[in-house]
Amino acid sequence: MRGLNTELLNGKRFLKDQTLENLSLTLKQNGFQSYRAKQIFQAVYGDKVASFDDISTIPKDLRTWLDEYYIFESIQLEKQQISEDGTMKFLFTLADGAKVETVLIPSEMVTFDTDTPKRRTLCISTQAGCPLGCKFCATATLKLQRNLETAEIVDQFIVAERLSGTTLTNIVFMGMGEPMLNYENVMSSVERFTMEDYRMLSPKRITLSTAGIVPGIMQMADEKRPIKLALSLHATTNGMRQKLMPIANKYSIEDLGNALEYYYRSTKIPVTFEYILFDGINDSELDVQRLARLSRRVPTKVNVIPFHEIEFTAPTGFSAELKPTSKEKFALFIQRLKTNGVQVMIRSSSGLDIDAACGQLAFSNAV
Ligand code: SF4
Repeated sequence: MRGLNTELLNGKRFLKDQTLENLSLTLKQNGFQSYRAKQIFQAVYGDKVASFDDISTIPKDLRTWLDEYYIFESIQLEKQQISEDGTMKFLFTLADGAKVETVLIPSEMVTFDTDTPKRRTLCISTQAGCPLGCKFCATATLKLQRNLETAEIVDQFIVAERLSGTTLTNIVFMGMGEPMLNYENVMSSVERFTMEDYRMLSPKRITLSTAGIVPGIMQMADEKRPIKLALSLHATTNGMRQKLMPIANKYSIEDLGNALEYYYRSTKIPVTFEYILFDGINDSELDVQRLARLSRRVPTKVNVIPFHEIEFTAPTGFSAELKPTSKEKFALFIQRLKTNGVQVMIRSSSGLDIDAACGQLAFSNAV
């Protein structure tokens, strides 16, 4: 799948696309001592400096050389908004003019890790737009423009941390795009985030959320990736799932169940199901029973999410029919799941006033 047209970088490369080995080798080939790469990594990922000039541990001629051949930061802030509830939304422009949104969610808003009292979770985008066309999602209306480069994914974290003045504690790959369709760059970014010597985060604090790309789940299993996996399930029958999420025409619920069993056998990491409740669509007692049955196949938490309407995208067809479940039915659904032995989490609607909630990313109030 298409990435950035690198001709637009005028012969330069993104610094954060480089692995430590890569950079060491390039430095050596250009007459610098290879150990300088470690100092650069320490400054960039450990100390999180903001420019080549700020890398005070390397000589000036190396800083000048780096500036000539590399781009320090791959994204530029276009707009930053803060919600009444403390959620922050960042709109970033990329080198080719593509745009992505990134959302910082304060601690209580996301409940992936109930053991961590003070979380600041960054919801990161992995593609500009998205090709999967889920009917409840604003990003789907943008279609796919391209995959993000590793540096563009990593920079969302580093820049958001700097702009917010906080230390981020968790990442969810749940912003714009389907991370499994940009697997290589997403995993490179994970490797960058979790490097032993310059660790920004433990892999346990990173969650990849997929709409259900079976080969990606199998690959994560085969590679024993130590990060967490979340599946956007949203329906308990193939028929309804296909209406909500066209990707379900390719991978059935049975395929997903088998893939998750394979994944759990390999990684021993429990899975999260995400389940947005739509009025009269997926909130019946039969849905409770089927969801409970599915969640028994592997250790699972079910994250029940209120539907956030996307009126600003002027939805048509089935999208226009989707409405949130009432508060009473929402509470009943959760109670019934619990009665059936399901471990349930509730996701509150953070950032609604700035269209930063789940499924709302589409530059609705960008400028
Ligand atoms: S919900 Fe996720 S996978 Fe579906 S269209 Fe939106 S961004 Fe893409």
